[in-house]
Amino acid sequence: MALIVQKYGGTSVGSVERIQAVAQRVRATVQARNSVVVVVSAMGKTTDGLVKLAQGVSANPSRREMDMLLSTGEQVSIALLSMALQELGQSAISLTGAQVGIVTESEYSRARILDVRTDRLKTHLDQGKVVVVAGFQGISQQDNTEITTLGRGGSDTSAVALAAALGAQECQIYTDVPGILTTDPRLVPEAQLMDEITCDEMLELASLGAKVLHPRAVEIARNYGVPLRVLSSWSDRPGTRVISPIPQPRSLHNLEITQAVDAVEFDTDQAKVAILRVPDRPGVAARLFGEVSRQNVDVDLIIQSIHEGNTNDIAFTVETRRLSHAEAVAEAFGQALVKEMESKPRRKRQESLAEVMTEQRTAKIAIAGAGMIGRPGIAAEMFAALADAGVNIEMISTSEVKVSCTIDVHDCDRAISSLCRTFDIDASPIQLPTQAASRHNAPPVRGVALDRNQARLSVRCVPDQPGMSAKIFGVLAKKNISVDTIIQSQRCRILKGTPTRDLACTITQADAETARFALQDLASLWGWGEVTVDTNIAKVSVVGAGMVGHPGVAAQMFAALAQHQINIQMITTSEIKISCVVAESDGVTALKIIHDAFQLAGKERVELPA
Ligand code: ADP
Ligand code: ASP
Ligand code: MG
Repeated sequence: MALIVQKYGGTSVGSVERIQAVAQRVRATVQARNSVVVVVSAMGKTTDGLVKLAQGVSANPSRREMDMLLSTGEQVSIALLSMALQELGQSAISLTGAQVGIVTESEYSRARILDVRTDRLKTHLDQGKVVVVAGFQGISQQDNTEITTLGRGGSDTSAVALAAALGAQECQIYTDVPGILTTDPRLVPEAQLMDEITCDEMLELASLGAKVLHPRAVEIARNYGVPLRVLSSWSDRPGTRVISPIPQPRSLHNLEITQAVDAVEFDTDQAKVAILRVPDRPGVAARLFGEVSRQNVDVDLIIQSIHEGNTNDIAFTVETRRLSHAEAVAEAFGQALVKEMESKPRRKRQESLAEVMTEQRTAKIAIAGAGMIGRPGIAAEMFAALADAGVNIEMISTSEVKVSCTIDVHDCDRAISSLCRTFDIDASPIQLPTQAASRHNAPPVRGVALDRNQARLSVRCVPDQPGMSAKIFGVLAKKNISVDTIIQSQRCRILKGTPTRDLACTITQADAETARFALQDLASLWGWGEVTVDTNIAKVSVVGAGMVGHPGVAAQMFAALAQHQINIQMITTSEIKISCVVAESDGVTALKIIHDAFQLAGKERVELPA
């Protein structure tokens, strides 16, 4: 007899009829000789409704009372589903997070799971009952009486944690779409269902806006090798399998408190090309990277920072042996831009004289680990460790599960040992290029995501010395603000004899003002300039493990945006993703055209429940 954990989301249990349909499916699973634990979300949009109620009463409700309130939604659905099962003659029992013993940190509204007690669950299962568990909630470790919630969308995480703790044969996430699609079918109806996706790709997609899975659920599945599947509660189709690598054996104690960083990676074979002062208008990045890819040069990191006046800087890295090619392309591109400018009126010409800079040998150093999701302090800790070792950071590029910096190649050994010490990594650091080999079968772009909840935070004129990024991101971490894309400008401005650079990052809109105030307060003390926030942005990203060693993916993405006259405000990449910040009003169009450009659209439209 196998044990299956099934999770049903809000829409799947949104009405009495839906709850009855879920009960039928659960019963059928039991009749196929399985033990079943079911995790359910609150009905329909109940949680949103409860949030609105709270806002009506208080502008700033306490996080404890919010958890008390929001946890009630799930309690309604477990009781109703349990009754519906009993009506079908299937014995069942509902349990809250506290009754099961889903023990969490004492951090209201975003608690991480520490332990899942399984004895009570097992006793009920042994008696032939279906156990219906409230998702999204737990009980705090400290005194075992406080109700906590895991963060919006957290029922997925409850389900995967239960599956890990019980050693379930499969964790099935039933939702209102047929599985994981190439993008959100509510925005792009031509999105196509995938048969499978790797955990690494799904982690990126989930954290870049694809809310079909909670990123922390993917993280647990990856750490414990939980077989995970996403499928529709409206059909019997097999959905999408999320594939995890074979995990290292690990204890179930402190389930979500994994080591934040599990690898330090480096690559000393990188050269940097930067083009300063390119015009800030649609099509420029597309032209540059189109030409680079025609020369068959694979670019690794690409960074375009916030613009200054009407120009941008774009920097990218390539393998050292490809530098001469890349440089030739950049020089020709720069000269073409200068020629174009010379035909323009004198005032504009002065502002925009493109210039190419190269650096023969730089090193890329990165920390990686799914455990850094939602832990704002990790990037700051990395920057502080580099500063302590006297290492200056040249470029920064981040994803949810990785922070990469380029540094002077001569600093590489010192940087590695400082990072290994800081993050307690005793295995030897991983040399990056060898990793690409296992990915050659994956498609270059698996999916596309849009995040409309982001704001851009910019800090102008940050003194260019070791330790400054650590200070800035340390301040944000103290306020519990997770930063996403971090970009440091290429352009160096000398202010009162000190070289300075601009720094920008994206954060969630809800944190924007807190972040701005916190940094502004310290501006005169630490010597940085104006701090600004822009909430009218959207981030569109492509993700695919196969883009490693596949030149031209970035060029294709930029060309699609250029064709539709969409200006790119920031660019950042990791090995398996490319993200562009665009104006919020361009977000959905950008998503659609990029999805089309990579031929991800299919002929069949996905059917969505009303
Ligand atoms: P549930 O209530 O079942 O947890 P969610 O609303 O949290 O469901 O997540 C499912 C939704 O995720 C879908 O209705 C869809 O609009 C959205 N979504 C975003 N990106 C994707 C994607 N790549 N594949 C599938 N669904 C996606
Ligand atoms: N009901 C919670 C929410 O809406 C948890 C979940 O559905 O996963 O965020
Ligand atoms: Mg969900």
